[in-house]
Amino acid sequence: MAESVKGVTEKEGVRIARRAVREARRYFRIPAEWNVRLAQSDPGDTKGQITAHPAYLDALIEYDLTQAESNADLYSTLGHEVAHLFLAEYDELIVALLQQLEKSGEKTQALEALTDGVRERATTRLERMFCRDVPYQAKAD
Ligand SMILES: [Zn+2]
Repeated sequence: MAESVKGVTEKEGVRIARRAVREARRYFRIPAEWNVRLAQSDPGDTKGQITAHPAYLDALIEYDLTQAESNADLYSTLGHEVAHLFLAEYDELIVALLQQLEKSGEKTQALEALTDGVRERATTRLERMFCRDVPYQAKAD
């Protein structure tokens, strides 16, 4: 059984990750029609990431237990990824606009960096709202 360098065991981590996604889906009112899959990524990959396909209402959230600082950190990481899902339909529009600008040669690195920054800041705000309103609680596991 793999263990996080910070002491989050795999069994405990999987349970926390599932609960975080369940709570965050409820908090952000992600419709039940969305199929959200959860998987551990290869150690050393990003701490958490989501690949969402709004057209198919399908998303894969991957997380790396070895990068979790604590149980609460793992919980907030998963909350962050579900917050991205909350913004997925908006993101779809931004991605389409950037693709159009790229085709016409008008996309700049500055614009792409700005959209990435705005997206992450909005997502982090939502993550913090979630963690403040529905905080990690060890006993609930
Ligand atoms: Zn993010």
